[in-house]
Amino acid sequence: MRLSRYFLPVLKEAPSDAQIASHQLMLRAGMIRQEAAGIYAWLPLGLRVLNKIEQIVREEMDRAGAIELLMPTLQLADLWRESGRYDAYGPEMLRITDRHERELLYGPTNEEMVTEIFRASVRSYKDLPKNLYHVQWKFRDERRPRFGVMRGREFLMKDAYSFDLDAEGARKSYNRMFVAYLNLYARMGLKAVPMRADTGPIGGDLSHEFIVLAETGESAVFCHKDLVEMDPPGSDVDWYGDLQPLVDQRTALYAATEEMHDEAAFDAIPEGDRLSARGIEVGHIFSFGTKYSEPMKALVMGPDGKEVPVQMGSYGVGVSRLLGAIIEASHDEGGIIWPESVAPFHVGIVNMRQGDAACDAACDSAYKALQAAGVDVLYDDTDARGGAKFATMDLIGLPWQLIVGPKGIADGVVELKNRKTGERVSEPLDAVVARLT
Ligand code: ATP
Ligand code: MG
Ligand code: MG
Ligand code: MG
Repeated sequence: MRLSRYFLPVLKEAPSDAQIASHQLMLRAGMIRQEAAGIYAWLPLGLRVLNKIEQIVREEMDRAGAIELLMPTLQLADLWRESGRYDAYGPEMLRITDRHERELLYGPTNEEMVTEIFRASVRSYKDLPKNLYHVQWKFRDERRPRFGVMRGREFLMKDAYSFDLDAEGARKSYNRMFVAYLNLYARMGLKAVPMRADTGPIGGDLSHEFIVLAETGESAVFCHKDLVEMDPPGSDVDWYGDLQPLVDQRTALYAATEEMHDEAAFDAIPEGDRLSARGIEVGHIFSFGTKYSEPMKALVMGPDGKEVPVQMGSYGVGVSRLLGAIIEASHDEGGIIWPESVAPFHVGIVNMRQGDAACDAACDSAYKALQAAGVDVLYDDTDARGGAKFATMDLIGLPWQLIVGPKGIADGVVELKNRKTGERVSEPLDAVVARLT
C-alpha cells in the first residue's frame, strides 16, 4: 500500500477525553473513530489489526475442534423469554421494536439462539460433542462506555458454545477451550492469566476469566507470579485426549479476580511470589450444565435410550477489546509497538527524499520485491519531511522500518530499523529485502 493513496488520518494530539494510552494511540494512529458513545467506526488501519486478531482466534478455535457459523445480531425477545433472561438482563440490553410491533433485541450474547439452533436438529449422543462458534458484533448498553474499544457498547466478540451428553464430556470441552485460549493469547504476544471467576448472570459452576495484567485494567486481580510467565501448551496437544493435567498445572496456582478473592489462600503463598495487580478481562469461559437446555428443552438421547437436557458451556473472547489490551501491553512514548502476528503491515518504507530519482527507484524496487514476496508493506511515498515520516511510523507501530535516504543510497546501503528494540542495521537493499522475506 502506498501511503499517498491510503486513508490514514493520524492526529498530532489525542482528544482530551481519551484517558489511557491505548485509546489515545488508537485515535492518534487513525485506527478508529467514535461515532456515538461506545460505538466506533473501524478505519482501515484499525480494521487490518481487528481482522488479524479475529483470524488468530478463528484458527485456534478450529484447531480445538470448534465449528464456525454466523448468527445474526438481532434476536427475538420471545427466544429470551424461554430462558427467563429477557426480563432478568436489565438495561444493558438494547431492545428494539419492528414495524409489526415484534420485540427484538440486539444480542449481548448468544446462549439462547445457539441452543435453539442445536435443539432444532440434534437429538442423539452420537452427534456429540459439538462446539459451535461465531465472531459477531454484540451490543451492551454499558452504563459507562470508556477507554475506547476496551469498553464499547458495540463490540466484536468470539463466542463459542459446547454441547455434551454428560458432565464428564462437558469438562473435556471446557478443557479444550481453556487450552486453546492459552495458545491464542500467546500468539498475539500477550500473557493472559486464567483466573477463577464468578459465573455472574450466565450462571453455572465452573468459570475462568483470562486476564492481561495492566495498570489501567478495570479489575483488581491476585495471583501466583509463576502463572504469568508460564509458557502456553502449544498447538501440538492431543485435543481429544486428556487435557486435565495441562489445566491442573495452571489452576493449582492461586489466581482470582476480586469477586472470587480468598485472602487466606493468597496469604498462604510465599510473599515474594504474590502478585496483586490490575487486569483487563480479555476472555471468559463458563461451564453451566443445563441452565439453558433445561428450560429451552434441548434434549438428547443417551446410549441408554433416555432423553436428557444437553450439558453446555460458553466461551467468549473480546476480539475488539484485545486491540486495546495489546497496545496497553506494548507501546512506548513514540507510539504503538505491534507484535508481528497482529501488525497491520509488517514493514513500512520511509523515503527520506521523495522526488530524488535514486531514492524513489530504491523504494520502488523494495516495495515491489516485498509485495511479490507476500509481505504486507506500507510505503510512505508522501512528500512529508523525514522527521514527520519517522514519527508516523513510530506511532503506527509497524515491526520494521526500511529507511531510504540519499546519503545511504550514495554508499549503496539502506537502513532497517526494528520498532521494538530500536536496533538499526545498514546494508545493501537486497540484503535488507532478504531479511524481511
Ligand atoms: P466486563 O466485566 O468487562 O464487563 P463481561 O464479564 O461483562 O465483561 P463477558 O460476558 O464475560 O463480559 O463477555 C466475554 C468477553 O467479551 C469479555 O471477557 C470481554 O473481553 C468482552 N467484552 C465484554 N464487554 C465488553 C465491552 N463492553 N466492550 C468490549 N469488550 C467487551
Ligand atoms: Mg460486563
Ligand atoms: Mg467481567
Ligand atoms: Mg466476563
